[in-house]
Amino acid sequence: MGLPDSRRPARQRVGLFLGLNLCKRGVLVQIAKIIECDVAECAYNNANQCHTPAVTIGGPTDHKCDSFCMSSNKGGFPDVTAVVGACKVAECTHNLDLECAAPGIKVGYVGHEIDCLTFTQG
Ligand code: SF4
Repeated sequence: MGLPDSRRPARQRVGLFLGLNLCKRGVLVQIAKIIECDVAECAYNNANQCHTPAVTIGGPTDHKCDSFCMSSNKGGFPDVTAVVGACKVAECTHNLDLECAAPGIKVGYVGHEIDCLTFTQG
């Protein structure tokens, strides 16, 4: 059985959160992981993996990674792989009430923009 969540070390609690499935309108939604990100200059990127706990994708008129951070310092948690915490791209076929219901996404460049490459026009 183990410790209740409130008694677990912080790093272990983050790991539990990243494995979370949520039920929305009767549909079980697995929180989408960032499978790969090609944006090496982002502070959260190491070896094509995103290491912040969660990113936000898009706005009403684009599907950029809003969490991109240009910095000389590296950020995030080395042991964490990011999930999509929120996605504002309502017209994507994977979007369910402004959350990402894809099994996972890829992020990378489209021209000069840092976009969700899994975006699919609905
Ligand atoms: S997904 Fe976004 S925040 Fe994460 S490494 Fe790529 S550009 Fe940076």
